[in-house]
Parts: sequence; C-alpha cells; structure tokens
Amino acid sequence: MIARVIVDISAGDVDRVFDYVSIDGTERGSRVSVPFGNRSIEGYVIEMSETTDVPPEKLKTIQSVIDDRPIISEEFLRLCDYMTEHFHLRKIDVFRLFLPSKMRGGRIKSLEKNVIEISSEYKNEDPALFIKKSAYSQAEVFEFVREAGSVEQSYLNANFSAAAVRNLLTRGVFVSHKETVMRTPYSNIVQRDNTVVLTDEQRSAVDMILSGDKPTLLFGVTGSGKTEVYLNAIETTLKSGKTAIMLVPEISLTPQVMRVFRSRFGDEVALLHSGLSDGERFDEWRRLLTGGAHVAVGARSAIFAPLENVGLIVIDEEHDTSYASESNPRYITRDVAMFRARYNGARLVMGSATPAVESFYRAQQGEYALARLPNRVNKREMPAIEVVNMCNEVMYGNSGMFSAKLVTALDECLKAGNQAILFLNRRGYSSYVMCRKCGYVAKCEDCDVSLVYHKDENILKCHYCQRRYANLDLCPNCKSPHIKQGFMGTERIVENVSALFPSARIIRMDNDTTRTKDAHLKLLGDFAAGNADILVGTQMVAKGHDFANVTLVGIIDADMSLHFSDFRAVERTFQLITQVAGRAGRESKAGRVVLQTYTPNHYVYRFATAYDYEGFYDKEINLLRATRFPPFSEILRMLITCENEDIALDATKYAIDEMRKISAEYENDFIYLNAMRSPKKRIQTKYRMQLLMRVKPSDEIRRRVYEVADEVAVKFPQTICFTEINPNDLS
Ligand code: ADP
Ligand code: ZN
Ligand code: ZN
Repeated sequence: MIARVIVDISAGDVDRVFDYVSIDGTERGSRVSVPFGNRSIEGYVIEMSETTDVPPEKLKTIQSVIDDRPIISEEFLRLCDYMTEHFHLRKIDVFRLFLPSKMRGGRIKSLEKNVIEISSEYKNEDPALFIKKSAYSQAEVFEFVREAGSVEQSYLNANFSAAAVRNLLTRGVFVSHKETVMRTPYSNIVQRDNTVVLTDEQRSAVDMILSGDKPTLLFGVTGSGKTEVYLNAIETTLKSGKTAIMLVPEISLTPQVMRVFRSRFGDEVALLHSGLSDGERFDEWRRLLTGGAHVAVGARSAIFAPLENVGLIVIDEEHDTSYASESNPRYITRDVAMFRARYNGARLVMGSATPAVESFYRAQQGEYALARLPNRVNKREMPAIEVVNMCNEVMYGNSGMFSAKLVTALDECLKAGNQAILFLNRRGYSSYVMCRKCGYVAKCEDCDVSLVYHKDENILKCHYCQRRYANLDLCPNCKSPHIKQGFMGTERIVENVSALFPSARIIRMDNDTTRTKDAHLKLLGDFAAGNADILVGTQMVAKGHDFANVTLVGIIDADMSLHFSDFRAVERTFQLITQVAGRAGRESKAGRVVLQTYTPNHYVYRFATAYDYEGFYDKEINLLRATRFPPFSEILRMLITCENEDIALDATKYAIDEMRKISAEYENDFIYLNAMRSPKKRIQTKYRMQLLMRVKPSDEIRRRVYEVADEVAVKFPQTICFTEINPNDLS
C-alpha cells in the first residue's frame, strides 16, 4: 500500500504531500518517520492508497510508525480538512495544533518504567525444576517476585542481583512490560462531593444547555453561578458516558480555578495550560487520548483535546479576544468548537456576563438558544460605578492622572485596611488623539473610528481606510491647545500613586512584569494573600479573579479602549468596565468603582453604570447595522509580507487587481475593498501590505479570496500571504 504523508517541515505557503511505501502498522492518521532528502523527518499519513504516480525507483519506504496507535483520529483528519479550507491554513500547521508541541520530533516521551512478573508457564511450577541449587541469587529474586506479584525492574536491580534478573528474563521465567507513569498536575487535590443545590434559574439553564439542537448562549451576570452550571452540565455528560471540554481564557486559569475542577472531577479531569511543564502537559494530553481522563479543561488550544465521544463543549467568557488565534495558524475557536460539536453530536454552550454583540445577535436571530441568569447567587448588588468627568478636573487645575474623587476613595480604602485595584487599558497603546478640555476625539470622516497618531510622520491616520489627516495643534471643537497624544503606562501610575501614598504596597501587573512563566499567577497570589494594598494593572487584572478584600476599583482612563481604532472598540469598553467593576466587593464587603473619562456622555458609560447589557446591545447592533460592520458583514484581511519592499508592492498590486475583478462579479456583496500598507509597516525586517475587504459573509467569496492568496504565494514565492476573518487587531 501507498501512504500519502504530510511531512513536518515549514516551507512555502502550500502543503506538499509525499507518497511512501507503507510498512506494517501504517494507517490513516498514523504519525510516521520517513526518509526525506538525506535525513529523516516526521509526518502524518492522511490517506492510504493502492496507487501512486511516483515512479517505483523514486519511491521510498516509511522508516517507522511512531506511536502505538494512529494519533490523528478520523474526527481530527476531517477537522484538519475543515480548518485548512475555512481558515486557509496549511495542513501541517493544523496537525501541529493537534499535538503537544514538545511531542513532535520525539523531544518528549511518556515516562515509562519496566515492570517484571513471573511468566504464566512458570508461575505454578516448582522453582527447583528450573533454578539450579547453586544459583542462590536467582532463587532469592524469584521468591521475591512470586510474593510481590509485579515489581519494578529498577527496584529489583537495586536490591537483588541484576545478573540474576537478566538471566531469568532471558530464559523467559520473568517477563517484563512497560507501564506509563503519569505526571499529573494538582494530583494532591482530593475529589470531594462539593456539589451545591442549583437554583431554579441554574437548573433551567442546565436543562436548556443539555437539550435541544442549537448551541446555547448562557447570559448570566457576574456572580450568577455560571461556573456551577457548567460543572453540573459536565457531570451529567460524564454520567451518560460521554466526555467534555471546557475552555476558559488563559489568564483566568488560576490555581483556584484548577482546584475547583480537580476537587470536583478528580482524575477524570485533565488540565491543559501554559503553566504546566512539558512532561505534565504531555501526560495530561495522553490521559485524554487513552481514556484515562474524560474532561479537558484549558485555554484556547484545549479545543483540540484528543477526546472521543464528546458530549459537551463549554466556552466560558465567550467574548474574550484570546479565543481568536492571532498568529499563524489563525483560527477562531468557536468555529472549531462548532465543528467538533456537529461531528460528535455534542452540546455547545458559550457563556458570558457581557456576550460579544455578534453572539447575542445570533441568539436574537434564533441561531443560539438563550439561557439567562439575571440574578447574583448571593443577591448582592453590583458595585456602584461613579463616573468622573476628567475634563472638569483639567478645568479646575488638576492635570494629574487621578481625580480628586479617586484620591479620596483610595485614601478611605487604604485607611480601612482594604485593597484597591487600579486598572489601565493596554489596548490604548496605539494612541488616539484627544482634547483634554472638551473631550473631542479625532475621527475618520469616512469610517467613524478614531484616528491613530503616527509619530514618525506626525500625521493622523485611519487604520480602516488609511485616509490621512494633519495632526492637530488646536482642538477643532473648542480651540484649546491641550491636545493629548500618546498613552500613559502602568509605570507612571505606580509612580504617581507612590507619591500620593508613600506607605502603600503596590504590585504592578502588565506585559512587562508577567513575561516569565507563571509570573501573573504569582503576582495575583501575592495580592490575594494581602502582601500588597494596591494592584495596578492592565486587562490581566480584569478577569475572573476573586479578591475578598478589594473594595475599590479605579478605572484610570476608560476611554482608551473606546477610541481604539476598531469597530468593536465600544463593545470592548463595555465588557471591560463590567468585568473590572465585578472585582470590587465580591464577598461580604461592599464595593465601589470610580471610572475616569474625558467623554462622560458617551452612551457606553450610561449603559455600563446601569449594568444594562441589553440596552447597550440594542444601541450597538443598530449602529453596526447602519454602518454594515460585522455581524452584518465580514471583514477579510489579506496580509502580504516580504523582506523586499518592491516585491511586496508588486504582489499587493497583483492581488488588488485580481480582487477588483472578483468584486465586480459580486458587485452587491463587496462593501469595501482597498489595498494599503499595514499600520505596522515593517515588522522584523518584513514589509507589510494588506488588502482590506468588507463583504457579505459567504463561503464562496472567502474561497475566491483564498484562491487569490494562493496565486500570490505561487507568483511571488518570496512573500508570505495569509488571510484573516474578522481580525481583532488590524495592526
Ligand atoms: P459566575 O461564574 O457567574 O461569575 P460563580 O459560578 O463563580 O459565578 O458563582 C459565584 C459564587 O456563588 C461562587 O462562590 C459559587 O460557589 C456560588 N454559587 C453558585 N451557585 C450556587 C448555588 N446554587 N448555591 C450556593 N452557592 C452557589
Ligand atoms: Zn477611514
Ligand atoms: Zn476641545
């Protein structure tokens, strides 16, 4: 038989399939070792065939089948086809997603030990018949093993004569087999019966999730007991003999969360997250593959958990941007989850206190069933959000970063021995331009998104249409010269707080302080343990953490994400405010939120302070409908990068010419099409050009776009060209 193999090399934009003569044990889905040039590399068998076009003298033979079973199941082979087509990816990149990275190339193996037993034919025999009287050491170790049943070989070698052990093995008196030892994280946590009695609301949410044929959107305010709903649904799924996958944003995978799962499901659960050692990760994955565990809990990539017979997939905090992979291979977790749910006939639930506008729209359209948890379990009120107009502060001579109200609140909080969180939005790093007196924000006249200041050229630019504007010296609205460009960082906040409260202990949490593995967990742990009074941080502090002592949350510059040049900027702002506010007063102490803004009249603050998600949704969806942004269209971005600027330009010119022809064919379905330099013009010595399209969502159009991308790859092999669907970040 001939095996068609995708080999594990990165070269070019397209997969190459190579034919090899198969050996015993080769199956569709096997991972194999094959000769390639003058070396040997790994590959995946995607098809078995009787025939090949390769002339016999050129045909090589597979060297070995690496695993004891095909490691890519039928489901994953089909998923690979789906992902290559839907997201326009190379097969090899998709296969790489399916396995723990360190497993490829044999860099990590399971931990195995040799275990020795007496073979069945000698078990009930008199040892005198086959062990000579003089061979004391053989008799001794034989007796020991007969008593013990089965013993690790290393133990025998250390405590008896290794030569005797070897002799008995060679003669077949002893037999040995390998047993895998699992490196299980959090294995010290014991399983407990800690189920709670669900409220009626929770009960009906579970019922809705587990029945029916549509995915469910679980819309529940923070503290409404969503986690309990997921746990319950997972339990029911396990009882019916099926498996479950639960996804959470990486940043929320705190030790507390993992303890919850371990104590609820014991060894049934495998945890997959970036904090694990390679060995642990591999073993957890292997336990899922071999049926040792039936629930996978992890960040985005856990959607590829090697489980069969999946009965339930949970996507917690479904609005979180980390569910879209933004580096190659780019994929949207929800789409993969939908595929797996369809394939397995599994239930899918996506939950959030602030669902993505697109998700809520789908629920309104009847694509998803909608389950609601409008009340908090402990009946506690959401903390009051006080909006401070920073323009007034400027007017009254306070040009610092903290309003008088926030300073007073901090003072009171610290004096009472409580903790505070000061939140700064990292998304603001690409800087918008704003008048500090009247709050005017420079926007694109064509696109209604904020302009971005480009320091190198001293101009303002729209990242959607690339239209350029002169930089502002005076505010066009109030003629004030107090124009603010750039952003403020967490470091400056820490400096300022220290100056105001010299004795306060402060922890800073941002990309810089959390670079090392587990750093963010350590910082959060320190704060939870009361080793600091104030936590200053970016979105990392916003998610899911429970701090009993936090009574104050300060949102330093709420507008930052609002004016980020992204059509989802307002939505993100609403989500962030709701989330950060949820950090205040989680337990018995009442919480308070001070939100600083230069645009206090923006509708997002009205809805956010009232915790009115649906009011916000109605407003937002109408705007999106009017401007024809997703979900009323799909944004496609084709990014072309190349070390050589001229080639990048030529390739882009080729692509836009082709796309213009195509858009003429689908006249009504193209809302927008243009080619331009990317906002980040050059990254890592590569020039970056892009085509931006806004189209009516359609498989056909997407396919045509991908075809053009493939042509670019063939005609301009020096370039790298890929296409994203509704990217979160257009830089
Ligand atoms: P969410 O995920 O919606 O923010 P959680 O699931 O974390 O909410 O629940 C908030 C708190 O309420 C948790 O401490 C949880 O243990 C508790 N809780 C949830 N459901 C119940 C219930 N039915 N009875 C008692 N306590 C509950
Ligand atoms: Zn524009
Ligand atoms: Zn102004």
